[in-house]
Amino acid sequence: MPVPKRKRSRARRDSRFANKKIAVKALVLCSNCQHPQLPHQACRECGFYKGAKIINTKSDRGVKRLEIRAKQKTEAQRDESQAAQ
Ligand SMILES: [Zn+2]
Repeated sequence: MPVPKRKRSRARRDSRFANKKIAVKALVLCSNCQHPQLPHQACRECGFYKGAKIINTKSDRGVKRLEIRAKQKTEAQRDESQAAQ
């Protein structure tokens, strides 16, 4: 197996990484909520892509969870009131 003959100095190694820069990615604004997003991808804020709702966002799941809990709470209260009678 080929092995490097000498240790590459810190200066040589670091000069290689000095030319490696962080690339600025292209950003577009969401057509629905104007939030900056990557092109050709569904918006992570509102879940829209090409004017249609594609994905459930975290806030959507939170709203749905609250609705389910409220429904369970009202059902539990109804059951308690029926049991008391
Ligand atoms: Zn959006």
